[in-house]
Amino acid sequence: MLLYEAMTAKSTFIDPAIQEYIIATVVRENPVLRALREETARHPHSRMAIGPEQGALMQLLARTIGATRYLEIGVFTGYSSLAMALALPKDGYVLACDVSEEYTALARRYWDEAGVAAKIDLRIAPALQTLAQIRSDGVEPFDMAFIDADKSNVGEYFDAALSLVRAGGLILVDNVLWDGAVLDAATSDRDTQALRALNAKAGRDERVDVALVPVCDGLLIARKR
Ligand code: CA
Repeated sequence: MLLYEAMTAKSTFIDPAIQEYIIATVVRENPVLRALREETARHPHSRMAIGPEQGALMQLLARTIGATRYLEIGVFTGYSSLAMALALPKDGYVLACDVSEEYTALARRYWDEAGVAAKIDLRIAPALQTLAQIRSDGVEPFDMAFIDADKSNVGEYFDAALSLVRAGGLILVDNVLWDGAVLDAATSDRDTQALRALNAKAGRDERVDVALVPVCDGLLIARKR
């Protein structure tokens, strides 16, 4: 229990004992994912990584919709991309966008170790640039997208993802509760405002069905109609 506690990003919204219970009882974490999580926990920005219970939820959603093509915007050290690559079938494809060679070097090591590197197409460039490029290339639609990059562009990422995902596909957005800052009227920095605007827009966006789940730092789940 203590080990999990030391290396798991705390959920702001779930009692830590409940979170530990969930992880210990029902999360089946691949050993390579676990090792990556341990290494990421020593990283100064480790809070940027998703928790194992969120990884399990994302894997379940991918399997539920029969996803084979997954788009990720914001890789960091690769926990979510690895979890998803493991959940996709053999012919699965991950397009992963990030700007950091440094963080994704760690990701690549674990993708190799888990034997899924061949499924993952990593593009190091500003994500909006990569997304515009693949749109003009006319790629096949994706089944699922996950947005977990710089928060100030989250609305643009959402619209770009929506245009690249098939009808019935899912767009997930991480950190949408932003440690509770989205409902604190006194907080008005750009990131918080962008997340607040996204939640408000998604809540009434006729293009999607939507749920906001208070797992980890808040996960918005939108289904393209
Ligand atoms: Ca995140």
